[in-house]
Amino acid sequence: MELDITKPPASMQNPAPTLLGLDRAGIAVALTQFGLEAKPAKMRAAQIYRWLYHQGVSDFAKMTNLGKELRPQLTEHFDLSRPTITERLVSKDGTRKYLIRFAPGVEAETVFIPGVGRSGALCVSSQVGCTLNCSFCHTGSQALVRNLTAAEIVAQVLVARDDLNEWPTPSAGRQITNVVFMGMGEPLYNLQNVLMATGIISDGEGISISRRRITVSTSGIVPKMHELGEHGQAMLAISLHAVSDDLRNKLVPINKKYPLAELLQACKDYPGASNARRITFEYVMLDGINDSDAEARELVRLLAGIPAKINLIPFNPWPGAAFACSSWQRIEAFAQIVNKAGYSSPIRTPRGRDIFAACGQLKSASIKKRASERLRARSKNN
Ligand code: SF4
Repeated sequence: MELDITKPPASMQNPAPTLLGLDRAGIAVALTQFGLEAKPAKMRAAQIYRWLYHQGVSDFAKMTNLGKELRPQLTEHFDLSRPTITERLVSKDGTRKYLIRFAPGVEAETVFIPGVGRSGALCVSSQVGCTLNCSFCHTGSQALVRNLTAAEIVAQVLVARDDLNEWPTPSAGRQITNVVFMGMGEPLYNLQNVLMATGIISDGEGISISRRRITVSTSGIVPKMHELGEHGQAMLAISLHAVSDDLRNKLVPINKKYPLAELLQACKDYPGASNARRITFEYVMLDGINDSDAEARELVRLLAGIPAKINLIPFNPWPGAAFACSSWQRIEAFAQIVNKAGYSSPIRTPRGRDIFAACGQLKSASIKKRASERLRARSKNN
């Protein structure tokens, strides 16, 4: 029997249905199933929506415009609780890393990075683990557990906003201004939930982060890219990392299925791409692997005709990684070639290096820590 990773297994589903992760229409449907007539359900749904996503409230008792009798009934019937933060690390540069537990054995990382864009970016996960085994990526070494639901993706934003004390949604001076799907997992293998979540995150009556500030990063799942552009209108980022199929097959093995020529054609056809909405190409700098001048020139040649910007990422080594980061000199020389060709190519400042910066590392460390705690407890008891 094939495992359906699109839904949480029944054993992991909360017995009380949650309204988190639903849009107004979804909340209205849940309320009619609960017993409200269609018209009041629609009105109550709009009120609850604003409490959940604009005020950040997770308790019906605080939803003061719902009516005294209705509040306890809703509390009994629906669950609004947030997932739990099992690890929370704050770097000296202000980066905050959370390991969030959605259900037993279902944990993913979320990272808040201050000082990106106008203010700060929240990097969210779309899956627990990943199937794609990119060889430079720590998450790629972890088996896929399952897709995160739309509710679980949205909950990462809510949890981070709780931690940053950023409720109700401020109209100015926000800390989280951008959301990037660059955490654990391949978002386009969980597209329906990612689309649902981006709809809620961008809604002006709630969390209100504009679609132009939501970026979905893919390793290159070509057949799903058009749908993302059409329905999600999110900004697109491509995890490129190599300029030849030979090398990309090794670094990003999904390239064997969707080679560079197909991937770049899908970028040219991406709905809404323009000079004002450029596609970001991420390029991790690996010492002696993909960082030569010739490769920088080839990158420029390949991207001709695509409204692009290039993000050079110094590799974040993790224990057991087969790669080292290119020298700063090499990264700058590479950037210069790309810059001269007219592409913006910022070098991403390494952030949070003191708190398990590589994606997936906090989860591994936490699993190891728990295993050694169990061993210690066992040896004490023996
Ligand atoms: S880079 Fe992204 S797609 Fe590749 S293994 Fe890591 S999480 Fe998966």
